[in-house]
Amino acid sequence: MPRPILATIHTQALRHNLQRVRAAAPDARVWGVVKANAYGHGIERVFEGLRGADGFALLDLHEAERVRALGWRGPILLLEGAFEARDLELCSRLNLWHTVHCNEQIDMLAVHKTHQPHRVFLKMNSGMNRLGFAPQRYRAAWSRLDALPQVDEISLMTHFSDSDGPKGIAAQMKVFEAITHDLPGERTISNSAAALRFGSEPAVRADWVRPGIAVYGSAPDFPDHDTAHWDLQPAMSLASRIIGVQQLAPGDTVGYGSSFTADAPLRIGVVACGYADGYPRHCTTGTPVLVGGVRTRMVGRVSMDMITVDLTPLPDAGMGTEVTLWGRASTGAVLPIDEVARAGGTVGYELMCALALRVPVVVDA
Ligand SMILES: *Cc1c(COP(=O)(O)O)cnc(C)c1O
Repeated sequence: MPRPILATIHTQALRHNLQRVRAAAPDARVWGVVKANAYGHGIERVFEGLRGADGFALLDLHEAERVRALGWRGPILLLEGAFEARDLELCSRLNLWHTVHCNEQIDMLAVHKTHQPHRVFLKMNSGMNRLGFAPQRYRAAWSRLDALPQVDEISLMTHFSDSDGPKGIAAQMKVFEAITHDLPGERTISNSAAALRFGSEPAVRADWVRPGIAVYGSAPDFPDHDTAHWDLQPAMSLASRIIGVQQLAPGDTVGYGSSFTADAPLRIGVVACGYADGYPRHCTTGTPVLVGGVRTRMVGRVSMDMITVDLTPLPDAGMGTEVTLWGRASTGAVLPIDEVARAGGTVGYELMCALALRVPVVVDA
């Protein structure tokens, strides 16, 4: 028997979540963001669930090739654009739309030989200070692009730094609108949090929204809101089984560093899942986990291949009992990935992206 850990990708949940974003941002077209191998889910594994999107957004050229290899003929957007001049050849060959965020990328386009002019997304740095043209340089960049025979349509783009938090999007919206209000072209500005929280405002959802995390079933603004609030379903479940049981006496400790000490008799289960599977090592005693679909807690430290869980609420659990690290148990009970991430001091994004290669993955309808 193989080691019992298994990740499951839920096609129906992906469809459902995509629908939730559509409902939150009515009449906007939706990029399914599948960068980082579809946030760790696997591009090929999510394709069926997300093929109802209007396009796919990603940033690795090999990933764009994989999406085309799946037979996708619709739009693909490179969120960081070309990294070097020859990337534009692939854009021409595969008809990839690409972001232009700096003058060097315009220089590359200006000398690129193509029969088919490119559709580009001109990115403004409206305050995040990562990629994009400063507002006062944006229109000059637009004019430069507009003059190039290599460029067809120019769309307008920016990215929010605080769409999930108290600062919100108002300041960046104001900057973006002030500079672009009289420019032609489609607009895309909203990630998951902006689409869910502010997508009812036409200027925010604009022509395209770019949801990533929400389609994978994690609440972008957790813990302010959870997946139940947004009606999102986990697209990934990570499950394993109990492979050992120990009966602790008061004063007994568990695991490396003896970080947990039993203060009463305690039955614990040893689960075949550790940080080498992508389970965060920063999670410690108290992190929620489902055993047989029932919520309990982890105790002690995460080791490379194992964690230990409190079986107090589960007198019948033992060798072979199903353990859900995140996602949906076979009973239907759900442990949102956001809760586990929070216990480990991180976000759901990181956990799903970090699912280790050694974990086998299946796709369920
Ligand atoms: C990753 C990314 C997104 C998606 O963000 P989520 O928070 O996962 O919805 C949208 N736009 C850009 C430019 C991105 O890099």
